[in-house]
Amino acid sequence: MESKIEKIVSLTKRRGFIFPGSEIYGGLANSWDYGPLGVELKNNIKKLWWDRFVKSRSDVFGIDSALLMNAKVWEASGHLKEFSDPLSECKKCHNRFRADDEDFKNGKCPNCGSKEVTSEKQFNMMFKTTLGPVESDENIVYFRPETAQGMFVNFKNVMDTTRAKLPFGIAQIGKAFRNEITPGNFIFRTREFEQMEMEYFVRPEEAEEKFEMWRDEMKSWMEDVGINLKHIHELELPDGERAHYSARTIDFEYDFPFGKKELYGLANRTDFDLKNHSKASGVDLKYKNEDSEAFYPFVIEPTWGVDRSVLAVLCDAYDDSDPKHIVLRLKPKLAPYTAAVFPLLANKPELVEKAREIYDDLRGEFSVALDDRGNIGKRYFSQDEIGTPYCITVDFDTLNDDTVTVRDRDTGEQERRKIDELADFLRKGIS
Ligand code: ATP
Repeated sequence: MESKIEKIVSLTKRRGFIFPGSEIYGGLANSWDYGPLGVELKNNIKKLWWDRFVKSRSDVFGIDSALLMNAKVWEASGHLKEFSDPLSECKKCHNRFRADDEDFKNGKCPNCGSKEVTSEKQFNMMFKTTLGPVESDENIVYFRPETAQGMFVNFKNVMDTTRAKLPFGIAQIGKAFRNEITPGNFIFRTREFEQMEMEYFVRPEEAEEKFEMWRDEMKSWMEDVGINLKHIHELELPDGERAHYSARTIDFEYDFPFGKKELYGLANRTDFDLKNHSKASGVDLKYKNEDSEAFYPFVIEPTWGVDRSVLAVLCDAYDDSDPKHIVLRLKPKLAPYTAAVFPLLANKPELVEKAREIYDDLRGEFSVALDDRGNIGKRYFSQDEIGTPYCITVDFDTLNDDTVTVRDRDTGEQERRKIDELADFLRKGIS
């Protein structure tokens, strides 16, 4: 029997959501490519996040910073020294694994069971490369392991150009790279992934209050994208287990099919980053208010993995209670296609032509599919499997009264609607 994650991997491959990376060359371990439907789902998640946390808020400013940054950034941020995982190697099978891995019990290799393992070594997870044609130490740069530092190094630029007053946030969506020792579990842990991050700068005395505010915002976001809060567990990280910069961290863990694991994080990074960048760069990154009081703000950092969002959303949406009829119960606003348009019969040119007309009208504003393969039942099943919330069928009555049948994915109900009201109906559906 296939496990739930195997079923999701297989559906997403079969229907064009997610493909193994570099597949025609035998793949590249743990790399994945988003296909035509996957990129729509992922973009819908990112757009929802941007609209909600950047565009619709007057206290948050968006940026898009470079993936490669001056190496001094990583020295000042502590990543060169601290951003490492403990690594052990099995002397027998030579597999390497994280020494803090759950499977690594009593110094036993999780792969072959041998007890002959090397002692722990710290392994820095940043990807190194060189700038320009000369490979020398001065030219070494690192791919960013988090988007956050882009926000810190632009703190002054954003403040100067926007005249932002505390509290305010700087946010971005972008790729991050980590040379993970044990990537795996599909898109859960990869070496190249995307983050949606927010650095929310506050007065030190309001850090706790704003931490709680973001805690609520994060939960509300999860509900909004269809993640069942029953599958979420908040884990307050004790001293000694937090990242080197954090005074308080909550991990939002999700019941993935392969276990309870981190989905998102929320941290109080204090004034660690701004202070260190000030010191290292010589540029004053203090905030100055009207009374010319100058101080380092604290920063509350809610962080969301894009790929883990896609995976959690897929896991909660996947419904195979009838194994012959799989339904992805995605929130309509996240579904790759908002609607699919069908001619009742594919061999009647007048129906096909009318269906195409409706499809052409709607696709300027909505993501819509046109499907005339097989019979209508098969088309419904096929759209259900990719989560399309509404199916629009053109039949002979359409030609006389300009109405169509709209079938709802979740209730299966069919209603007659006027063609010129369809856009309004879909707009409401995805709001
Ligand atoms: P983990 O404990 O799972 O390694 P982390 O605590 O190192 O994660 P953060 O540094 O808090 O993760 O990164 C912020 C977010 O980025 C995570 O909550 C997660 O959603 C995402 N993320 C981190 N590492 C990866 C990865 N290797 N692949 C996919 N997403 C990731």
